[in-house]
Amino acid sequence: MATKPKRKPAKKKLARAKAKPVKPAKSGKAAKSARAPGTDSQRVAAILAKLDEAYPSATCELNHKNAFELLIATILSAQCTDVRVNQVTQTLFKKYPDAKAFAYATPSELEQEIRPTGFFRNKTKSVVGASKAILEKFDGEVPRAMDEILTLPGVARKTANVVLGTAYGIPSGIVVDTHVQRIANRLDLTRNEDPKKIEQDLMQVIPKDKWILFSHQIIWHGRRICQARKPKCVECNLESVCYAKDKTI
Ligand code: SF4
Repeated sequence: MATKPKRKPAKKKLARAKAKPVKPAKSGKAAKSARAPGTDSQRVAAILAKLDEAYPSATCELNHKNAFELLIATILSAQCTDVRVNQVTQTLFKKYPDAKAFAYATPSELEQEIRPTGFFRNKTKSVVGASKAILEKFDGEVPRAMDEILTLPGVARKTANVVLGTAYGIPSGIVVDTHVQRIANRLDLTRNEDPKKIEQDLMQVIPKDKWILFSHQIIWHGRRICQARKPKCVECNLESVCYAKDKTI
């Protein structure tokens, strides 16, 4: 009788897969939390109520008769006071009453006329460029849509929000100038320094129907009370809700 050939014992399969080495977590700066701690809704409501109390009718302090004049004045207001811009535009708008007049201005003449506002060469380019674009692309009207107004030379979100909010009553965002940048941090409504991020932070916590007024109120507060170097905390009606490190009382 034939005997069964002995089977070779099967090689034992490796039961365990090779474990992948675990990469150590990259060290780096901890991510900033999505919202600053000062943004709880009750606190924000208290801040808004106090702003309404102090500045019920805050508005843009650049003199203008229409959206186009406000656009030009806002371009000129970069790194310049509203008072100085108003002095310049008082005569400027008489000589150049509309977009067509600015579009065909002699640049060297216009440069001298807006020189007191500073950065006059760049501002002349922006004013002439924006006026031409308004004439050629938007039938002579300042556009009402954020994506359109941002195509104008010299216009970024800050200028766009000023014009859309003040001239058209469109709450397109929140104006973040140097005052809003400083005070939003002092009030702990943001922990960011970049204006775009600050605007996003504020838009998350300030109700949309308050965006336009809130922008003006904070700018007024920055000019009158919460100044950069020596905030007048003793006169500030927000003092009870403010825990800024550089408070002066
Ligand atoms: S208390 Fe002082 S730092 Fe705080 S918002 Fe008022 S002025 Fe500004």
